[in-house]
Amino acid sequence: MRFTRQATAALLALLTLPACAPSDGAAATPAASGKGTPAPVADAGAGAPGIGDTDFPLDGNGGYDVGHYDVTIGYTPATKHLDGVTTIDATATQPLSRFNLDLRGLEVSEVTVDGAKAGFDRRRDELVITPATALAKGARFTVKVTYAGEPKPVKDPSNLGTYGFIPTTDGAFVASEPSGSKTWFPNNDHPADKATFDFRITVPRGLTALANGELTGKTAAPGGRTTFTWRETHPMVTYLATATLGKFELRQGRTAGGIPNLAAVDPAYHDALGKLYRVSGEVTDYWSKVFGPYPFSATGGVVDNFSAGYALENQTKPMYGGFDPDTSIIAHELAHQWFGDSVSIERWKDLWLNEGFATYAEWLWSEHTGGATAEAMFRRQYAAKNDPIWKYPPGRAKPGDLFNQSVYRRGAMTLQVLRRAVGDETFFKLLRTWVADHKYGNATTPEFIALAERLSGKQLDTLFDAWLFQPSRPEV
Ligand SMILES: [Zn+2]
Repeated sequence: MRFTRQATAALLALLTLPACAPSDGAAATPAASGKGTPAPVADAGAGAPGIGDTDFPLDGNGGYDVGHYDVTIGYTPATKHLDGVTTIDATATQPLSRFNLDLRGLEVSEVTVDGAKAGFDRRRDELVITPATALAKGARFTVKVTYAGEPKPVKDPSNLGTYGFIPTTDGAFVASEPSGSKTWFPNNDHPADKATFDFRITVPRGLTALANGELTGKTAAPGGRTTFTWRETHPMVTYLATATLGKFELRQGRTAGGIPNLAAVDPAYHDALGKLYRVSGEVTDYWSKVFGPYPFSATGGVVDNFSAGYALENQTKPMYGGFDPDTSIIAHELAHQWFGDSVSIERWKDLWLNEGFATYAEWLWSEHTGGATAEAMFRRQYAAKNDPIWKYPPGRAKPGDLFNQSVYRRGAMTLQVLRRAVGDETFFKLLRTWVADHKYGNATTPEFIALAERLSGKQLDTLFDAWLFQPSRPEV
């Protein structure tokens, strides 16, 4: 995720307002009630309503681990109506008489667990499911949720603007970080639970639906519609899932390094298509040399006509919301394919592992293309003694202000200080080892610090403490 410059200025103004509560608590969804079993406050066999991230107590859920999502949706832009069936393959990590999915708004008509009708209840953004038969620990099970309605994006004035499933004039712009995927399909909405995905998206003829991974089919559907099927075979966090749809011009091929490359632009950005395709290919190939082999089966980018004021690194399909991206932001979003998408955070407080690294990648791209070196970029930032980033320790992202500039810029500065301390050879070996060790998984800041110390043979606690965890400008 990266904000455009105008959006950053607007956010800096907004950040003087009191921070809002996390999204789960901020806006209540009317409690729709199904033919549910009334669920008691606590019982021994209930999965927790949150995955255990204390900053976002209701994000994700406990008691199971998702292996695969099959997300089938039909969407009609003229009426903004969505019909959905989501089928989830999961494994119980404890005995479960009841468990939750995250779903915001939308009307649920039926839930089955292993083919048998299940009871369900809605509590704000929680869909509470009571299977007909309790699940044993270790049981693999399949949940199918049938639902419909008009998806409403999350509007969070404290930090992010608008995210989730966002209607546009010709379709929808779908960018869900941090917790907006629940606005269009039921899921375990937290980066700690990664899964593979199949998407089946039906839209009026003439429109294109773009999801993650590779296109596996495009077929005619009843009612003059078209169904696009996409498959992401590599584990993915829920916020990176997309089903962006509308009128698009496409350019497809392969990067010079042989990676399938797809660029798509809303017709309003016709002139951006060639550059988006070319630069996305060049950047993907270059990062493959610097960070290690590209982790996914496709690359590219999408420019839509919704003025989000940000870009998001949707897996295999970075999304640029209403602007023609410059090479620096393309370098940022594609670096996230390694840092954030393949190696994902376990808890939101470690967000600098995504944003500090992607921002540092912008500096590396500048260095690579003959612009300012990373050291020069560092010095420019460090010279600003009164920058608010010095009061915000980036190693501990705050729940009401996750995407603070410190997480980006001071996070990147931390990497430059580390590079100085360990030398180029060890530093780049560290980046490659980090992405190789945690490929398709989750990781934490203490694990990064331990790896840096192991590879360098140096004691780095003081450096990391000063740069990541102290509310002051470190000495250099
Ligand atoms: Zn980012």
